Amino acid sequence: MSARGLSLPDTPLDEAAIASKATAERIRVFADRSVSGALTSPLGTGLLAWVLGGAAGWKLAVIWLVLINLAELLILGIGYRYQIAKPAAEDASLWGNRLILGNTLAGLAWGSSVWFFWVDGEFILYLLNLIVLVGVSALCVIIMSPLRNAMLLFSAGILLPPLLHLLTVDNPYAAQISVGLVILFITEQQYSGVAKRQLDRELESGQRNIALVEQLSLARMALNEANQKLTGKNAELMSMLERVRVMATQDELTGAFNRRYISEQLERQVALKARHGTPASIIMLDLDHFKNINDRYGHSVGDQALKETVRAIDEELREGDVVARFGGEEFLVLLPVAGREAASQLAERLRAALAEVTLREGREEIILRASFGIAELRSEDTVEMWLRRADLALYEAKAKGRDCVVEAA
Ligand code: GH3
Ligand code: MG
Ligand code: MG
Repeated sequence: MSARGLSLPDTPLDEAAIASKATAERIRVFADRSVSGALTSPLGTGLLAWVLGGAAGWKLAVIWLVLINLAELLILGIGYRYQIAKPAAEDASLWGNRLILGNTLAGLAWGSSVWFFWVDGEFILYLLNLIVLVGVSALCVIIMSPLRNAMLLFSAGILLPPLLHLLTVDNPYAAQISVGLVILFITEQQYSGVAKRQLDRELESGQRNIALVEQLSLARMALNEANQKLTGKNAELMSMLERVRVMATQDELTGAFNRRYISEQLERQVALKARHGTPASIIMLDLDHFKNINDRYGHSVGDQALKETVRAIDEELREGDVVARFGGEEFLVLLPVAGREAASQLAERLRAALAEVTLREGREEIILRASFGIAELRSEDTVEMWLRRADLALYEAKAKGRDCVVEAA
């Protein structure tokens, strides 16, 4: 299979999709943190009302508690609905904005506590109130950091009311406290920015990994498919190769080796003889009056006779002997390591075996006979000379009246 046949998905990662999924994930993190923040806030609001309610009045404390818990309930409602709805990436920012609204209201409610609990002359209680506010806004850096606007608005919500309050009351440390609140606002923005960037990196690499795994599994599927195709093609190729090998070496009709194959073997024998003096002989045989068989019984009976001839020869051969169809009704038997004596004996056996072949056509029995020419390889022989000598011997056998064996000189 060509390289072109194998198509692996090589498209680059969809960066826009990764970014939008990472943003949706950021909003999900914000929703989860908002919910847990809203769940724990009654502890803080309760504590503040408990500490300051006595001096400022329980009625105001209850009103404040109701207001702030309404805001926390709003956050819980939106957060839970978000968790249940699991909105698609493109709808996530709408939910993010709703949560920002809830958190901004909660921030304002926290900040307004200084208005609710201010008592002239109770500066320690006021400082306690401020400490709680500073603590809450610092804690919320973690909750709000996934969304920059959430952090901005929540911080502003929690810190602006005390700033405004400082303008309206007679507070000996108004300037210092105002500066402190502004510093707090700035540092919170800065830390939440750092936390957001870290979260962004984590979420983006998470989404990138998911996209990569998807691509990898697509690539693996494509590879598997290509592999299967390749395995199929390979099997096809192997069987084609086997067919080609058979076609290249065998005669189609009789299954004997073909002339090309035996010519290679003859070359080998000539080389072995030259190098090591290894003996070898050939028997060339030609069916007698074969044309008559064709003429009398038809070509297909002639074909049958040729097949039977090969079968009969095969039965007489030893391991290592080779029979090939050399021409129409002419066959060549190669006997490696055999001298003229052994070849002559085998030729006689072949002659007898052919005579035994019983081919019938209707009521008539067809008689197969053949003439044989034997040539033992001589040191000075080339393949052509060797074949020529066998051919001459065969010619002589024909001349002698056929159905006999003649050894070459
Ligand atoms: P001889 O004894 O002198 O060899 O006589 P012959 O008739 O055998 O020789 P000849 O060369 O006159 O005829 C050979 C015949 O063999 C002619 C040809 O049609 C036939 N023949 C060659 N190849 C095939 C084949 O594949 N199938 C069939 N049925 N006949 C074939
Ligand atoms: Mg013949
Ligand atoms: Mg012939």
